[in-house]
Amino acid sequence: MNAVLDLVRPDLRGFSGYRSARDDAVSGDTWLNANESAWPNPCDAGARNRRYPDPQPRELCAALASLYGCSTGQLLVGRGSDEAIDLLVRALCVPGGDTVLVTPPVFGMYAVSARLQNVGLLEVPLRDGDAGWSLDFDAMAEAALAGNAKLVFLCSPLNPTGDALATQSIEALAIRLQGRALVVVDEAYGEYSMQPSAVALLARRRNVAVLRTLSKAHALAAARIGCVIADAELIRVLRCCQAPYPIPTPSAELALAGLSTMALAKTRERIALARQERARMQWAMSGLAQVLRVYASEANFLLVRFRDAEAAYRALLAAGIVVRDQRGAPQLDDALRITVGTPEQNDRLLSTLANMVPA
Ligand code: PMP
Repeated sequence: MNAVLDLVRPDLRGFSGYRSARDDAVSGDTWLNANESAWPNPCDAGARNRRYPDPQPRELCAALASLYGCSTGQLLVGRGSDEAIDLLVRALCVPGGDTVLVTPPVFGMYAVSARLQNVGLLEVPLRDGDAGWSLDFDAMAEAALAGNAKLVFLCSPLNPTGDALATQSIEALAIRLQGRALVVVDEAYGEYSMQPSAVALLARRRNVAVLRTLSKAHALAAARIGCVIADAELIRVLRCCQAPYPIPTPSAELALAGLSTMALAKTRERIALARQERARMQWAMSGLAQVLRVYASEANFLLVRFRDAEAAYRALLAAGIVVRDQRGAPQLDDALRITVGTPEQNDRLLSTLANMVPA
């Protein structure tokens, strides 16, 4: 028995989900089995959208598996990593009984998916110190074990602080939680970090899952393509919990084109530029009178504390620049999160902040 399957909700262990017309392994040249229209829509020039899509588009899965260094069996594609988060919570957590563990301040969808499923939330807050933010892995392991956590969400690089986690710490946590919880490493911003992906851990840690997305560095947020990479048997369970045809054909085609050799080369160039700009922005903002602290970041954003965050937010808005107000988040009542833009956009942001009238 694969121990990671013990983490699946007991009532879902034999569940096979919806069986769609596309799941029947049959062949033919006249497809009259799915109640699709016999004629294409006038807008659909290549008639590529008349029929339901492949639930897991084969070429796209192969391209993603090769990009992320896993097998196609270890990967499930969905509507952004948001869907993967929701699927994990639904498949593993018994409503009203199990819990998930998060590390606030952190990306909010882990808590939202838990709430929607009536799953409790355990919180082990990040700690802010002179050297930056840190996570108390011991406290996390203890809280997860004592509080019945089925999922522990790690975010690396972490939204909104920008910190990346060391693979050894992730592995040590997975070892302590073996048989008890799945450690999910959300690498939405992984491309911007020098830290190696936690996908490498999957070869020896079955209770690790990794989330990746084309929404950030690959600049395809509107395509809504993200994936979860995990133990192949767990992937099969997650697929049974997913909608019948989750990946629209136009999105799959766009994503595949976005993973061509040429597109990937361009993406790599832009990642390098974003990193350069991140360093420049960090340095330049640190010197501004309005700024109390800029945290080092391995993502494409910077978390910045201001003397007067309200005034900074308003000055930027007045200049047409929209940043993310973090003041509602724990420990961040003076902070804004600023995405790294183009060099011109960054210059505008810097000059707006530099020209702010002192309070
Ligand atoms: N994880 C993190 C850490 C994020 O910041 C985001 C988007 N803001 C997501 C996941 C979701 O991304 P998507 O659904 O577009 O893949």
